[in-house]
Amino acid sequence: MIVVMQKDASPKDVEHMVDRINGLGLKAHVIVGTERTVIAAVGDDRKTHKESLESGPGVAEILPILAPYKMASLEVKKEQSVIRAGSLTVGGGTVGVIAGPCSVESEEQIVQSARAVKAAGATALRGGAFKPRTSPYSFQGLKEEGLKMLAAARAETGLAVVTEVMSTEDVDLIANYADVLQIGARNMQNYRLLEAVGKIDRPVLLKRGPAATIEELLLAAEYVLNGGNPNVMLCERGIRTFENHTRFTLPLATVAYLHHKTHLPVVVDPSHGTGHTYLVPDMAVASVAAGADGLMIEVHPNPEHALSDGYQSMNFGQFDQMMRRCRKVAEALERRM
Ligand code: PEP
Ligand code: MN
Repeated sequence: MIVVMQKDASPKDVEHMVDRINGLGLKAHVIVGTERTVIAAVGDDRKTHKESLESGPGVAEILPILAPYKMASLEVKKEQSVIRAGSLTVGGGTVGVIAGPCSVESEEQIVQSARAVKAAGATALRGGAFKPRTSPYSFQGLKEEGLKMLAAARAETGLAVVTEVMSTEDVDLIANYADVLQIGARNMQNYRLLEAVGKIDRPVLLKRGPAATIEELLLAAEYVLNGGNPNVMLCERGIRTFENHTRFTLPLATVAYLHHKTHLPVVVDPSHGTGHTYLVPDMAVASVAAGADGLMIEVHPNPEHALSDGYQSMNFGQFDQMMRRCRKVAEALERRM
């Protein structure tokens, strides 16, 4: 439920209600808005007498949260969340652009990529050091060596680093190097991992599982939020359908739908969403037009020789062209990019 405080409620009133809620065995999350403060009381509230909370000091009203994803819901927080991590801003009218290779392959490759994507207007660098590969015989990533190379690229360019964490035991290691932790599509429902990134102070980019519904995506985000980490970005990266002309099917209605249901910003990844370099620019432009708060794009110095996902990666010139087109659309819609 949501405890809506009166406009003139004092910090002491809020503190009192937080104690009351926690005392009922629920978890209180305070959300300070521009108009007023609300406290989301989440947990099993079937036995709670809402009336007893209503008479608390500074309380305006008690409302049920109808969505199953409580903290992620627009019912709890009306203003869109803006996620910031170093050079990267996602949401609130700014389209963040996270670009770079699928995998970190060498220091030269990642530093060169960072320089090129920054020059074209990207605001964060991507690159996998721990790679979830379909086959155990494929390149698995450079692990900690790769993380060090990402840190070198950040030192060189100032770009924030976004990289994937695949398991709970690697969370602290990756948080030591990265500005944003990516939870990959294959791990969207790895609940122990979601709980673990809920406890760290780094933003999380949560990718949609290829067979997950949007409600499942939001409930996965809920694990991170309920763990205490409010900085979650959702990422549509395509789903599995009967269609096979593209690697996955990229549903852009996800962007519009999520903007009606959640305050969390929405990023689109047209590289994995299409699986073909030549389709990425048009879908990136369409994502910006649909209202995406961010883009994640695979860019490689030499896609033909990439160790992973070269067939969907752009070279530097292609990425620069794509950015020029996306910026025109963003400007027309009065968004910064
Ligand atoms: C990636 O970003 O390189 C990746 C593995 O993406 P996904 O988890 O969406 O497949
Ligand atoms: Mn990839």
